[in-house]
Amino acid sequence: MLRSEQKKDIYDAMQSLEYEINTLYTSNGQTPFVTLGFGLGEDWFAREIQVAILKVRLGGIGKDKQTAIFPKLVFSIKRGTNLDITDSNYDIKLLALECSAKRMYPDVLNYDSLVRLVGDFKVPMGCRSFLPAWQDMNGEFVNAGRNNLGVVTLNVPRIAIQSGGDKKRFWEIFTERMQTVKDALLFRLERVREAKPENAPILYKYGAFGKRLDDGQDVTQLFDKERSTISIGYIGLYEAATMFYGGKWERNPEAKAFTIEVVKELKAYADAWKAEYGYWFSVYSTPSESLTDRFNRLDREKYGDIKDITDKEYYQNSFHYDVRKKVTPFEKIDFEMEYPEYCSGGFIHYCEYPKLVHNLKALEAVWDYAYDRVAYLGTNTPIDRCYECSFEGEFVPTAEGFKCPECGNTNPETADVVKRTCGYLGNPMKRPMVHGRHEEITQRVKHLESLDE
Ligand SMILES: [Zn+2]
Repeated sequence: MLRSEQKKDIYDAMQSLEYEINTLYTSNGQTPFVTLGFGLGEDWFAREIQVAILKVRLGGIGKDKQTAIFPKLVFSIKRGTNLDITDSNYDIKLLALECSAKRMYPDVLNYDSLVRLVGDFKVPMGCRSFLPAWQDMNGEFVNAGRNNLGVVTLNVPRIAIQSGGDKKRFWEIFTERMQTVKDALLFRLERVREAKPENAPILYKYGAFGKRLDDGQDVTQLFDKERSTISIGYIGLYEAATMFYGGKWERNPEAKAFTIEVVKELKAYADAWKAEYGYWFSVYSTPSESLTDRFNRLDREKYGDIKDITDKEYYQNSFHYDVRKKVTPFEKIDFEMEYPEYCSGGFIHYCEYPKLVHNLKALEAVWDYAYDRVAYLGTNTPIDRCYECSFEGEFVPTAEGFKCPECGNTNPETADVVKRTCGYLGNPMKRPMVHGRHEEITQRVKHLESLDE
């Protein structure tokens, strides 16, 4: 077979995969959440597959060449493979930059930083969850078939509100709340241990969890001895610190130290429970796709409007920089890079950019800056398109939904609007968004406009 024929076969295979995933629906009507990791292979076939994945994504879906929402693409960058201009796969990094600028994916995984944080290299499960390095009885490192058994998320802003601004009180309530988190996680563990292989044959009997069990066998062996993780999640470090230091605390070292102390404490609990129960308790920076809205609403009903905390109608995700602020990608990376050491069970950083299509060097400068600092970085950039007037850029969120700033089009049939709704992208004109996310995105749009000025 000729190389050119093989090349075409690879491209066609990757295109079929993209279309198949985007035309499949789960029983609740969603496209299956699939994440595709790639980027490290250096032989001819590996390179062609990587190029095909990116070219298919760049080409778009259907007659309007819409941006594919799934699979999520995660491109690995490694020094010596594709990071520097002298590396053999540097050309593929350039293609990945173009694809991120035009289609928002791929997000990037920085090899050396990831190994430093989680112990070995792997692609995230789902949008941001990472398993720690783990060896089986024979000393072999295993990733395939391992899993996360769930997460219970702590509402940190509520603890801060209830403390009334008293640090001592904050830590007392924190300690009480952690007991509830522990009870909930242990309850969950008990529930999953009751599962029977015949309840979910794909998982237990046909190898999805890495072993083939028979009916009636105990499933615990798939989870214990620290093989599975189970997670302590958290939300709203920004709002928690705001209770003590006001809404502009990011450059205040004492305030920053307080937020680090929170994740450090969570990690200390996780380590202690791991030693006690033999399950790998990890700290997870919850995506909080709906909690961002729900926790805020519950607290607003109970405690009223509190400036920069409940009054903005959403809580900030995990350790993320307050989305309302004007901050450069470099400042944002510097601010956030200290947290994942304590919450390596799940994390992602995003940087916001104005339209990048004509300035890939700028995006590369951020990726290169990030390489030794953060492990997992996403690109948020306006890529909306209007088929009424051929506008390309950012649709404006309005009361009637997303609107073309050129011609006022709000018809989802003649527009392609793509926003990041958690670790994943979504199309908010086709699927209603959670309110808090809408607010976050409104703020981001304002921020992007200010960068354009
Ligand atoms: Zn338009």
